[in-house]
Amino acid sequence: MAQHFLLSKAAKTLSLLDVVKMADADVETLFAQLRWPETQGEAVCAHCGSLTVYDCRRPSGAPRYRCKDCGKDFSITSGTLFASHKMPLRTYLLAILLFCNEVKGKSMLAMSRELGLSYKTAFVLCHKLREAMAQEHKGREMGGEGVQAEIDGAYFGGYVKPANLRENRKDRRFKVNQSGKRRCVVVVREREGKTTPQVFKTEAEATHWIKRRVDPATVIHADEAPSWNSLHGKFEVLRINHEIAYSLDGACTNQAESFFSRLRRAEQGHHHWISGPYLLRYAQEASWREDHRRRSNGWQVNRVAGNALAAKQSVDFTGYWQRSA
Ligand SMILES: [Zn+2]
Repeated sequence: MAQHFLLSKAAKTLSLLDVVKMADADVETLFAQLRWPETQGEAVCAHCGSLTVYDCRRPSGAPRYRCKDCGKDFSITSGTLFASHKMPLRTYLLAILLFCNEVKGKSMLAMSRELGLSYKTAFVLCHKLREAMAQEHKGREMGGEGVQAEIDGAYFGGYVKPANLRENRKDRRFKVNQSGKRRCVVVVREREGKTTPQVFKTEAEATHWIKRRVDPATVIHADEAPSWNSLHGKFEVLRINHEIAYSLDGACTNQAESFFSRLRRAEQGHHHWISGPYLLRYAQEASWREDHRRRSNGWQVNRVAGNALAAKQSVDFTGYWQRSA
């Protein structure tokens, strides 16, 4: 049997020890190169885009630049997902590495222990890394001529704890006894290609989104759930009845299932509940991990850091601290 990718040498190109041993200047250069790839790491003013910039390091040694044209100061992370950061760049690099190395997701409490951060800081930081991964989903078109794509849905969140005494327990199959917070993650996964998830109240609500997002020339694979019936009008759809087989007559949704397996393991093993406003971010994280699962961890770290530094300030967390103060 072939060796699993994660056991191979090619999967491990960056270790925690490598990052710990790196010189401060090298960490700075790495971030500068990821932030300003078009100038090979030469600083570009974050306010006006000018190239006439000089080093204006703080007495503490923290890297800062001053723009000759507009006179404003900025750092390597100004205007990016890591804007207004308080931690050294190395801490970010370590956080990204720890985050990427956990192939099923990272517990934020573990991250807070490993980096000596408060839980809330680790929570916000990890969500910014998910936001960085999600940059790749923006406006993504799925499918096309000759592309096979699998779709499936699974429910997350909205757990209602049963009462202690049997006579007080309610039948949780009835809507009136549910929390109303349960949501359905629906995924479209191209074979040998990209994965895109979205969150809905029910599986049936997803069909409009699928029709909009997926090229009509795509061959769709789906299970026997009646929610997908309306897709036959727009796509060639192959159905697989899981009561009979997981793969039959060329129809199979195993890759979509494998995405849900990863997300479910992240939920049960690390996060415990992933409902509410952040569910989509967890789903996007799992899809990013699926899409790049055969890349080395060093590649993944560069990719996440590069996405974060190319992105504008966080849409989820700008003003988060002020709101919750
Ligand atoms: Zn400027």
